[in-house]
Order: sequence, then structure tokens, then C-alpha cells
Amino acid sequence: TNPVFTGIQTTVFETMSRLAMAHGAVNLGQGFPDVDGPEDIRETAAKALMDGPNQYPPMLGLPELRQAVADANKRFYGLEIDPQTEVLVTSGATEALSDAVMSLVSPGDEVVLIEPLYDCYLPLVERAGGIAVRVRVTPPHWHLDEAALKAAFSDKTKAVLINNPMNPTAKVFSDAELGLIADLCKQHDAYAICDEVYEHLVFDGHKHQPLMTFDGMRERTIRIGSAGKTFSLTGWKVGYITGPASMLDPIAKAHQWTTFTTPPNLQKAVAYGIGKDDSYYQGLADDLSAKRDRMAKGLSALGFEVLPCAATYFLTCGIAGTGLGDNDVEACEILVKDAGVAAVPVSAFYGSDAPTGFIRFCFCKQDAVIDEALERLSRFL
Ligand code: PMP
Ligand code: GLN
Repeated sequence: TNPVFTGIQTTVFETMSRLAMAHGAVNLGQGFPDVDGPEDIRETAAKALMDGPNQYPPMLGLPELRQAVADANKRFYGLEIDPQTEVLVTSGATEALSDAVMSLVSPGDEVVLIEPLYDCYLPLVERAGGIAVRVRVTPPHWHLDEAALKAAFSDKTKAVLINNPMNPTAKVFSDAELGLIADLCKQHDAYAICDEVYEHLVFDGHKHQPLMTFDGMRERTIRIGSAGKTFSLTGWKVGYITGPASMLDPIAKAHQWTTFTTPPNLQKAVAYGIGKDDSYYQGLADDLSAKRDRMAKGLSALGFEVLPCAATYFLTCGIAGTGLGDNDVEACEILVKDAGVAAVPVSAFYGSDAPTGFIRFCFCKQDAVIDEALERLSRFL
């Protein structure tokens, strides 16, 4: 077998969901909403399924979805994107990440990653033969240290892969941090692969600013989005990449040998969804930030150190004040088995030498579910 896959563990999200099911726990582990996204989007998909055609759509994606993605780039970020050559539809952001890393990274290339990192990044880079160079941001504010980032870049750096807004830290990178990343990419002639699946799940007046909008970055950056997150339809697995044709061209070659395409009815419905008015996008963020507040208040009262959360589906919490010990993996096992609440150990987001004092709760759940989880925790702790 390929050594990258020998001994690789099942992803923590699947592991925790299986445990949650086995123990009848409230699942605040894996990040998915417990209410499906807008009915009109689902109806559009259902109608497209019945009306057809249900045959292979174009490899790059349905023209109407590529147009919608290009329009959204203009509408939200002022980016001019050519839908013919600068948009690729993928089966989820996960496929987009895989296609990007497989096609842009060659054996021996260095890829700068910011830790804690989304769990597929390291195996993808290693599978491509790349060398992961990790830079750590540290709690509670998860600031990016300038000297550490500079030290991570070298003449072997092929790309930086960043997740902004960031899972699990719920951090939105500041303009200064993005500016620094941009400067280093230009200085070292590196690509930027930007996983921006949480671009619309940003709270408290923060605004998502794609790295691609920074001076000199348009030609060396790809942005990855996910309809799963933007429309609360995580099972659909419709993703999209925006970037210069020179980068998308090789990425499309990886896509053609991976999935080749994505179900046409879902693409059609996502094209419709992207055009929704501002009140949809604002409503999504407002709903989520209210849930964040509800859960944060309850968790704080139980002794969790709830870290700042500007975006995403997730609250990261220190467990030192809860009596759960200082090992996040053990704490999550105890919580799922004995308290009936599933969370995710934050150490799963590190390649090695992880801090062990933090766990992640997912808050995109119905209020009654959040309350039930808090009630279970308060009975146990
Ligand atoms: N990137 C990040 C940071 C994520 O949290 C997730 C999980 N939803 C993905 C990518 C994968 O997105 P998709 O479900 O569209 O493959
Ligand atoms: N992105 C989700 C999370 O962070 C998990 C998606 C998955 O299970 N692949 O919880």
C-alpha cells in the first residue's frame, strides 16, 4: 500500500459521528446543520431531477452555475471572473482541495500550512509527495506570527494553503495577516490555495476578504467555495473553484480523473441559490451567530473557556475549568459515552505535538437541540 495511507486514521468527524450514534448522543461533533437548507433550492433540484437531462453535464460544470459563481465573485468581492475559463465546479470543496493539491504540488515541493488545520490537508499534501511546513497560530486569539510565517517560506515553497474563515478556530484572518501572506507568496513566487468554504458564515460585522483581492494575488490564487456551507446542504457536495486559467487548467485535469463531474440537478439548484438576495445571506449569518451566543453562554456557565468565534459553525473551548481533565481525546470519549454529547478533540487538527486542552462544539443546531445538549452537560459536569 501507499505509505501515506498505511496507518492513516478514519477522520475524526466520522469517528465521532459513529460514536454519537452508538451512544444516542446529541451530535455536536461533525459540522452539519440539523435543518436542511432553503426549500426553494431543494425544489429547484427536485424539478431539475424530474425534468432532466440527467446525463453528464460539462466537465467544468453547468454553464449557468459557472456564471453564477463568477457573478457572486463580482457581487461580494468586486472580482472580475471569466466563467468560461476561471471557474470549475467540483464534487464538494474536498474534491476541489484534492484536485488543487494533486495538480499544483510536485514531489519535493514545500507547502505552507497553518495549524490547527482541516484534517484532509496534511494527507493530501503528503500524497502528492509534497513537504508540509506547518506554522502554528495559538489560542485564545489565534494570531499569525509574522516571524514564524516568514521562516516557513523558502525557495522550495510551491504554495500556501489557508482556510479563511478558519475551522476549528473560528478565526477571520485580519487584513494585516492576509497582506503578509500575500507579500510572502509574491516574494517566493508561490501559489495560494484558499479554502473559503465559510465565506458567508461570518458574524458581528466582520467581513470576509479573499486573499485573491490583494495586490498581485489575482494571478496566483485560487478560491474554493462550498454550496454545502452556503446553503446548509452539506450532503450535496457541490464545490467550486475560482482562479486564473493558468491554474485552473491543470486543476481541471485532476478533476477529470477524479469525479469528472457533479450531479446536474444539484448544480442547477446551486446556480439558482447563489443568486438569492442579500437578506438570505444576512439571515444565514444572523441565525448562526444567535446559535453561537446561545451555546457560548451555556458552555461558559458550565466552566468551559469559550474562545472568541467570528465565523464558521464552531466554538472551540478550553476544558481546564470543567473537571474533564487535560486530555481532549479522553474528554470527548467521556462526554459522548457518559454525558451523551459528542464534540471533537481539537488535537485532531494538528500533525504532531498538539495541544490537548481544547474541544470543538458545532452550534448549527436547532435551539432545542442546543438546550438539550447543555442540559445533558450540566447534569454530567
Ligand atoms: N474545508 C473545510 C475547512 C471544511 O470545514 C470542510 C467541511 N465541510 C470542507 C473543506 C469540505 O467541504 P465539502 O463538504 O464541500 O467537501
Ligand atoms: N467540515 C466538517 C467539520 O469540520 C466535516 C466534514 C466531514 O466530515 N468530512 O466538522
